[in-house]
Amino acid sequence: NTFAEIDLGEALNQNIQRCKYVKPTPVQRYAIPISLAGRDLMACAQTGSGKTAAFCFPIISGIMREQYVQRPRVARTAFPLALILSPTRELSCQIHDEAKKFSYQTGVKVVVAYGGAPINQQLRELERGVDILVATPGRLVDLLERARVSLQMIRYLALDEADRMLDMGFEPQIRKIVEQMDMPPPGMRQTLLFSATFPKEIQRLASDFLAHYVFLAV
Ligand code: AMP
Repeated sequence: NTFAEIDLGEALNQNIQRCKYVKPTPVQRYAIPISLAGRDLMACAQTGSGKTAAFCFPIISGIMREQYVQRPRVARTAFPLALILSPTRELSCQIHDEAKKFSYQTGVKVVVAYGGAPINQQLRELERGVDILVATPGRLVDLLERARVSLQMIRYLALDEADRMLDMGFEPQIRKIVEQMDMPPPGMRQTLLFSATFPKEIQRLASDFLAHYVFLAV
């Protein structure tokens, strides 16, 4: 019933305390241990449920162990280890702000990229290195086409507000993005899908992108 009981590591636990989170919310209580166990997850969770931390904590915890893995040296191409996709600039920035607080002093680098804003600043950030990339689908496709991001090293994929991304017409971009992750050996990627609703289209995404996943409704 406390975060300390979940094995997230010392640094992350300190950051959780700094954020004044005392007790996990229901989605956190169930989603975090499932994710730490390495399982793919489809979670029905509303805004305000604490879903951001539910996918950020296990991702940061995993990346803390993996951030020193050797990445290909390709000039001006970033090789993030985790990708968090979200429908809008506002939500991406919120996730980025929270993920930065959670990863304070862990050495894990979080970068955000969204559309409707000049790309140059985002390119400069990416060139400085990135472990966790938070992005909107359209802008990420642009970065992939420019070869400024490669998804070859992705270990963790989180899709936040997946139903909203589909409502906004992002399914082709999402499929294009996930296709690029299927090059590394299968089983290397863990996928966490969060959605407020669970209509047929989301079920199809889940069965296409997730492997033997746990379904969680809180
Ligand atoms: P979210 O559903 O991720 O948008 O989170 C909703 C709000 O709840 C955010 O302001 C979080 O910072 C806050 N929050 C998330 N988890 C907890 C927690 N375990 N204890 C207290 N506040 C939390």
